[in-house]
Amino acid sequence: MAALVLFNGYYWAPQGKYLCLPVLNCYSCPIGTVACPVGSLTAFAILRRMPYYIIGFLALLALALGRGFCGWACPFGFLQDLLYRIRSPKWRLPRAADAVKYAMLVVLVIGLPLALGGGKEKGAADRIAQEGTRAYDYCALVCPAGTLETTVPSLATKPDLRARASWRTWSKMGLLVLILGLMVVSRRSFCRALCPLGALMALSSRVTLFQLRTDPEKCTHCDRCIAVCPTHSRRLPARPGEREASSECVMCLDCLRTCPEAGALSAHLGGRTIALSGGKPHA
Ligand code: SF4
Ligand code: SF4
Repeated sequence: MAALVLFNGYYWAPQGKYLCLPVLNCYSCPIGTVACPVGSLTAFAILRRMPYYIIGFLALLALALGRGFCGWACPFGFLQDLLYRIRSPKWRLPRAADAVKYAMLVVLVIGLPLALGGGKEKGAADRIAQEGTRAYDYCALVCPAGTLETTVPSLATKPDLRARASWRTWSKMGLLVLILGLMVVSRRSFCRALCPLGALMALSSRVTLFQLRTDPEKCTHCDRCIAVCPTHSRRLPARPGEREASSECVMCLDCLRTCPEAGALSAHLGGRTIALSGGKPHA
């Protein structure tokens, strides 16, 4: 909730637009504080320029915290947690659905914008700024954050815009309804299947300094940690000392909070233990 306020505080923190943080919060929204990496990467792909700052900064954050932003700070993650509380039949996405977000990243955030973009031609940046993202990219075709935070308020308050809305606008509205419905019936389904930012941050799961570890001598295999995991990514390591990296783990630490055995599960940051299961603070 704090992150939701922080990332929508443009009027008290306008300089935040220079920061590209790994959270899905549309930066076209007038109150959006930070720059969305998906929109920023798409813009650089359209211009065919290397996004050194975005890649470098995101790589640093991913190395330090993995998908921790997905679990602790992303407003769209929070929205999913809220919607999943609505009483309804619940359904688990098949594991194969996890791959869709990588396709979104490769095709809609990088591939098509690169192929169809304006390149370095004279005036391309101005033209793109004026025309907006009319290309076939993630922001233009899919992003439910952009639709929810920018399109919906605009259509609701400006009748002239409503009258001029294109098929693309209405198809995005329909997609938003579908995605919100999916969030109600399937937990963290958007993070798992459709978020290209999640795909980007998931690439760090093997190298991030933020890691979970299970102590096989203390774990009783009760599987409570597996049942509570919102992304269905929790697995017990097959061998002692095996790395527990899962690209779908959003480091929410629900598993650690649920585990009843003191010290069976632990969280580590750069080799230091920062939290232990069993409700006992680390000495
Ligand atoms: S494995 Fe644990 S920290 Fe990772 S997403 Fe599942 S519950 Fe959260
Ligand atoms: S909740 Fe704790 S004790 Fe139970 S299976 Fe998970 S790590 Fe092991």
